[in-house]
Amino acid sequence: MRVMWKWLRACGIGVLLMAMASLPALASAAVTQVDFEAAKSDAVAFLDGHTEELASVADAIWSYAELGFQEFKSSDVLKRLLEKYGFKVEMGVAGMPTAMVATWGSGGPVIGFTGEYDALPGLSQKAVPYKEPVVEGAPGHGCGHNLLGTTGAASAIALKHAMEKHGISGTVKFFGCPAEESGSAKIFMAREGIFDGTDVVLDNHPANKFEAESGVHTSALMLLRITFTGKSAHAGSAPWDGVSALDAANIMGVAVEYLREHLYFTNRIHYIIQEGGAWPNIVPDKVVVMAYVRDTDDRLPETYKKFENCVKAGALASGCSYDVQVIKAYHQKHSNDALAKLIYKNMEQIGLPEWAEEEQSFAKEVQKNMGKDQTGLPDKLIFTPPPAVFTGGGSTDVGEISLVAPVATLRTPCWPKGIPGHSWGVVAVGSTSIGHKGMLIGAKVLTSTAVDLIADPEQLKKVKDEFGELSERIPYQPYVPKEVGPELDMFESEMAKWRPLMEPHYVEPKL
Ligand SMILES: [Zn+2]
Ligand SMILES: [Zn+2]
Repeated sequence: MRVMWKWLRACGIGVLLMAMASLPALASAAVTQVDFEAAKSDAVAFLDGHTEELASVADAIWSYAELGFQEFKSSDVLKRLLEKYGFKVEMGVAGMPTAMVATWGSGGPVIGFTGEYDALPGLSQKAVPYKEPVVEGAPGHGCGHNLLGTTGAASAIALKHAMEKHGISGTVKFFGCPAEESGSAKIFMAREGIFDGTDVVLDNHPANKFEAESGVHTSALMLLRITFTGKSAHAGSAPWDGVSALDAANIMGVAVEYLREHLYFTNRIHYIIQEGGAWPNIVPDKVVVMAYVRDTDDRLPETYKKFENCVKAGALASGCSYDVQVIKAYHQKHSNDALAKLIYKNMEQIGLPEWAEEEQSFAKEVQKNMGKDQTGLPDKLIFTPPPAVFTGGGSTDVGEISLVAPVATLRTPCWPKGIPGHSWGVVAVGSTSIGHKGMLIGAKVLTSTAVDLIADPEQLKKVKDEFGELSERIPYQPYVPKEVGPELDMFESEMAKWRPLMEPHYVEPKL
């Protein structure tokens, strides 16, 4: 009735009197009207009313700090949160135990939100503005994924609340995507068709700024494990009997360094020797190199071939055999321009968090201790258009989603300005009110954007048409061969080592 009254009021009394003769028809039309602005306000109010609960979920995940594919406790907290608010949660999607799809509603449009919840090795850190680990050497949330996952889930829940309250039909999904930093679950979720049928995917990532980004800003990527196999021998008394796998790796490295000069500037190649031999007086018969090869979508296959030639050169010159294993590979992220603009419009409506003085002081202390300018917390709204020239850079497995559904990312203002990702400074603010405020603002913007998409089918069509053009230009074709699956045990032993030491510091969510 409230909706109907608002609508009648909006019509004006003159119109109302003129329509008196056909009142039954008017009434039935009015009942179907939805006040989408009120729906937005209700979603925002819902988030404000659940701040404590949502913050406790983010803090719990922060304290668990589980590495890729080991996010058993973290995914369980999000599952419980989503179930509490009426979502049907399917765990273990695409063959990954910590991957999930939570669904509410039926029919179209289908709006999806992403969430990640994996931590990074070695970045354990207390919520203090100076470097001090909770457990020395243990994992920590250095990319803010505790906030990322909770932002996505909170957005889905708030949207569902508003849709239910205002009789809006459609489907809301939350995609829980594990191991972003390592195994990149989204590759396998996309390949298994998990995102198919989703009209729009709204992504978020904590950042040192408040930003919506359009176009292509990330590289396509391949993660490779290269194993050289030689023959061991006494390095002093009979080196001529040995075939050194380390020689192969070194020659590979030299070849790569020469190759760089002749690669297009969009490439990035970096590698480490993960296993370099057992002892200097033994000719190493096994050496393992881990390498990233990055480039644009169109150049990556060619760049990879050239890199592989360097591997072959190392093997040939040293007399070793070699094996190259593709662990993961994904595309550049093609952010939907129409969607990014809509996100930005909602950033303008919602605005920045109101930072308290203590929060600014905390942020400045972190900045001071990291050798950065003491400029405090994010204080402006940024819309980043597509780059005039793509010059290369980092990567995200959201790239894989961007070729199967329209997607854009909101960067949520959770970190002090200038603080880089994958640092102790990010972990330090990740369970404070700074991170919580950024998370809440993020959920408000994403939920409001979703309401706009439902309210205006033309807007949704624009987003989908743009995606249609992209699909024609770059049809989705996974880089990973069919036989390659997620490496689920990548961090199993590492996590098993840390869990008992971290358990005393776990914080449980207030669910
Ligand atoms: Zn990261
Ligand atoms: Zn991240």
